[in-house]
Amino acid sequence: MITIVTLDGPAGVGKTTIARELADRLGIAYLDTGAMFRSVALFFGDGGWERPVDQLVPELNRLDFDLEGTGKYSELLLNGLPLAPEIRKEEVGLWASHLARIPVVRDFLRRNQQAIGRSTSLVAEGRDMGSVVFPGARHKFFMDASIDVRAKRRHAQLKSMGMDEDLERIRGQIRIRDDQDRNRVVAPLKPALDAVIIDTSALDADRVLEKIVDHIRE
Ligand code: C5P
Repeated sequence: MITIVTLDGPAGVGKTTIARELADRLGIAYLDTGAMFRSVALFFGDGGWERPVDQLVPELNRLDFDLEGTGKYSELLLNGLPLAPEIRKEEVGLWASHLARIPVVRDFLRRNQQAIGRSTSLVAEGRDMGSVVFPGARHKFFMDASIDVRAKRRHAQLKSMGMDEDLERIRGQIRIRDDQDRNRVVAPLKPALDAVIIDTSALDADRVLEKIVDHIRE
């Protein structure tokens, strides 16, 4: 039987760390849907979100995402190749947030995400996993934290990947993304009605993981 666990929340809250660990514990695959939006954003480049929709569609149809492996070894592939490391730059996150407001982009990625979820059990991480993409998921979680905590977490995450970006700049970009992700017309960032909400501001990653595992075992 296929089991889907959804993990949604705003930028920088630490979803990626938790989702990867959780998938490892459960022995299932981990799907980073933000990485899919980021890859599409990098593919279209700076300003790509301003292109007419009828130009975007044929380009999107050239893209195909696949997921291989489980737990920490889950790997997303785009047209058979590993994703580019540059997708992690905060600037590309902002491009992704601009593109994520366009319905044809969301529809295209939703179909890809649902196709992946039909073939394998998943911890699916993003903004609308519990509310739109996998409404029937077995377990749904929504992580939140203050903007200061999230900016620091994102700063530390990028540093550990060798990208030393300015903390204030990260905070500014996260604020713009928060605003865009929460107020867009299609699939705005908000917890699914049946999601368990976890405020992680004062919790470290181990504690958040334990809380989630406890809920799943209940
Ligand atoms: O999670 P991450 O920061 O990598 O996501 C980048 C951007 O992609 C988000 O700011 C959001 O606008 C968009 N996104 C989305 N829905 C998802 C995942 C990401 O709209 N399921």
